Amino acid sequence: MTKTDTTVLQNFINGVWVRSNGSQTLQVPNPATNELLTNVPVSSKEDVNSAVAAAKEAFMKWKKVPVPKRARILFKYHSLLTDNHEELARLIVQENGKAYKEAYGEVQRGIECVEFATGAPTLMMGETLSGIAEEIDSEMFRYPIGVVGGITPFNFPMMVPLWMFPLAIACGNTFVLKPSERTPILANRLAEFFSKAGAPPGVLNVVHGAHDVVNGLLDHEDIAAISFVGSQPVAKYVYGRAAGKGKRVQALSGAKNHHIVMPDADMDKAVQHIISSTFGSAGQRCMACSAVVVVGDNERFVKLLTKKADELIIGNGMDDEVLLTPVIRKEHRDKVLGYIEKGIAEGADLLRDGRSEMSEYSEGNFLGPTIFDHVTPEMTIAKEEIFAPVLSLLRAIDLDEGLEYIRKSRYGNGATIYTNNAKAIRQFREEADAGMLGINVGVPATMAFFPFSGWKDSFYGDLHVNGKDGLNFYTRKKMITSRFDA
Ligand code: NAD
Repeated sequence: MTKTDTTVLQNFINGVWVRSNGSQTLQVPNPATNELLTNVPVSSKEDVNSAVAAAKEAFMKWKKVPVPKRARILFKYHSLLTDNHEELARLIVQENGKAYKEAYGEVQRGIECVEFATGAPTLMMGETLSGIAEEIDSEMFRYPIGVVGGITPFNFPMMVPLWMFPLAIACGNTFVLKPSERTPILANRLAEFFSKAGAPPGVLNVVHGAHDVVNGLLDHEDIAAISFVGSQPVAKYVYGRAAGKGKRVQALSGAKNHHIVMPDADMDKAVQHIISSTFGSAGQRCMACSAVVVVGDNERFVKLLTKKADELIIGNGMDDEVLLTPVIRKEHRDKVLGYIEKGIAEGADLLRDGRSEMSEYSEGNFLGPTIFDHVTPEMTIAKEEIFAPVLSLLRAIDLDEGLEYIRKSRYGNGATIYTNNAKAIRQFREEADAGMLGINVGVPATMAFFPFSGWKDSFYGDLHVNGKDGLNFYTRKKMITSRFDA
């Protein structure tokens, strides 16, 4: 840290900014410079209890606010976020480190979630059937479920919270958000704008912190549902603990996304998409490409890929030219360096060693583009999520073998194929064992009106975030059966 600062972020509880009563704080540095931005409190269970109590009380009134009136607050929120698009993007660059262009895109993705939530009056409509029996009709109404707890990761400080609270709140729930302690600044801005948009006190609350806050939410008897996004071990833990308490849970988890390059693919375009999918946001996206399956003997692709990786501009995300930005913390980079050592030890060919660029950018948590070739599915670097600018190339004889690699992976968030062959596209669509597929698309992340639908160990639960899944997650149904023979 190059600057000392005693500023500590506050929690947002019941419409006011309050100091946490936790005794500890954590530093929040800029990943590109390691300059201290602020400090985040490690809030206590008492802080959680205050926030949940405020949300519980607010719920009693909020659930009765007419749905179009709730949606109008979302419209106002949309305007505020749109008017402050650049400022929000700059905040993301500062605390997360990603490139401004990507941060700007993330803000847009977040705003689209708010757009989706403004449709609450239509989304929340029920169903009716006149005449289920003689002179008897049935109706289904949708209602909110209560207080929802949201726990979010560092890599999308804007988009992921907005996957959750706008829709939850538009459906009539109230919300307690626990943002990542590594990127907590934006969450406070989001809460500030939400309050400005007219949300009553207690409808959205923010409690900063770490494990204690998470456990406080998972165990709290007044929390009806948990939306979680983060790494695999934590997602599994959160799912088990909260579901064990009878809560509704959706837990989005880690990933290992395979991209299959068929021999007929347009190699220039495939390389371009793979480069930006793998190295954009320093590989810290749950939809990042982290393993490429090269089908056939395709040395041209490998050469082109390494050439483009050599040309990548590394640096601070505020610089327009930059694509490769730092990873979130020095400790995370140390873990990644361990994976690189493991890859070498297990016999993969280190085609491009990004460690050589670290000394040139020593002030931040940088790592140059790193590419391993001849990786086999059994190797650690092929199996585990590294979450960094490190790519594994696996060789396959044909599409069947490539699909087998995807099937073997414990994760199933995304997968992509590069080809123009209709038969291969169809086989890939039918057989690739993952929830979000790309056909010649580098980051096949879904938009707010579709579910974000990872499979296998990339997701624990039934209903995903966004789209109709999100609506079903944040509402419960009531059936009314009426007899009219009197
Ligand atoms: P993380 O699991 O370290 O943290 C996520 C949240 O859980 C944070 O709020 C953190 O405070 C909390 N947490 C961490 N460890 C905990 C513990 N032991 N007990 C209780 N709470 C704990 O994840 P991260 O590093 O912030 O985010 C990156 C991960 O998120 C990657 O694995 C990435 O794939 C995943 N992710 C998945 C999706 C998806 O849609 N599947 C989207 C974004 C990120």
